[in-house]
Amino acid sequence: MKLPRPLSHSSITLYNECPQKYKFRYVDAIPEKPRYFFSFGRSVHSALEFFYGVKTALPPTLDELFKSYKETWVVEGYRDQSQEIEYFEEGKRILKAFHEKHSKDYHTPEGVEYDLSFEVEGVPVRGIIDRVDRLPDGRLAVVDYKTGKKLKVGRLEADAQLTMYQMLCESTLKAEVGELIFYHLPTLVEHRTTRRGAQLVDELKARIVATAEAITKEKFDPKPDEMVCRWCDYKPICPIFKDQYAGVAMAPAKAAGEPELARLVDAYGEAAAKVELAKKEAEKAGKELAAMLKKKGYVRAFGTGYEVSLGSAVKWEFLDKKKVLEIIKKAGVYDAVLAPSAPLVTKLVEEGKDADLRARLTELGERVESPELKLKPL
Ligand code: SF4
Repeated sequence: MKLPRPLSHSSITLYNECPQKYKFRYVDAIPEKPRYFFSFGRSVHSALEFFYGVKTALPPTLDELFKSYKETWVVEGYRDQSQEIEYFEEGKRILKAFHEKHSKDYHTPEGVEYDLSFEVEGVPVRGIIDRVDRLPDGRLAVVDYKTGKKLKVGRLEADAQLTMYQMLCESTLKAEVGELIFYHLPTLVEHRTTRRGAQLVDELKARIVATAEAITKEKFDPKPDEMVCRWCDYKPICPIFKDQYAGVAMAPAKAAGEPELARLVDAYGEAAAKVELAKKEAEKAGKELAAMLKKKGYVRAFGTGYEVSLGSAVKWEFLDKKKVLEIIKKAGVYDAVLAPSAPLVTKLVEEGKDADLRARLTELGERVESPELKLKPL
């Protein structure tokens, strides 16, 4: 087979981590789940692309930088809104500090998000470099931004990504690289090293050629590793874990193979997305309406097609549930307040330690299984 796409640092790393995972990702084109740390990194990178990409002698103002950051913020992959807000604010903190520091030494780089391609012994290779600067002696400095909380500085001297970027720059821009930089954005520390020697470059070239050869020969054996498999999105369809997922039939990898199935999946997804949007809109309109009714002192109002009344619902929330139970038991009203709820009884049937009780409850109940769909956007 042909290479599905030019090799990059990340695809070579992925292949060497697990060839089967590479196949799922790049040959079968099954996307992985969005991850918040990738979204966060992309958002901050885009803002810095704006900062250095404006093609003026003056840097953008902080407000302009924040505006661009907000407009290109990537929302996918966050656990919930509070985590997204936390990271959004962290990004603003980083950008504010970056702006303060680098407005003073502002310069026009040689390139930002520089998309470069070349060939190693006929193997196409591609890389997108965060920033390339021109050093005073005419050589180039390669800058790779890092947004993770911690940076393993030991990587700097041998990291294959920087070696790859040096090769890309030197073969396409026809200038020597003088410095390689990991720029750790959360701390604004630039970790610098000098250009790679011939040995590391030759090792990487050999690795590129060997990886391309293995891919074209379709060597896609799984390479299980506890830590890697643990976070692998392809586990449910991986041959190594087929026993664990026995009986769970997997859908074909590509929608093209099952057009009717794909149509139904999309119809279901689109309808569910509309419901979700409508729910959010109703919630927002409801809040605005309640606030207006309160402000005007009305308890009832009419539209042309609907009538609405303003009531109030009161509920109690108890944080220390144990203490509440203790007090209720002491008061002798335990039986009166704790009606058996369905989830509670289900838990007793499925996980209860008292086998006799489990058997008696099982006799009384009926296990009803109904299909449940979990939806995620592609
Ligand atoms: S589950 Fe493990 S062995 Fe299977 S594809 Fe993922 S990383 Fe490879």
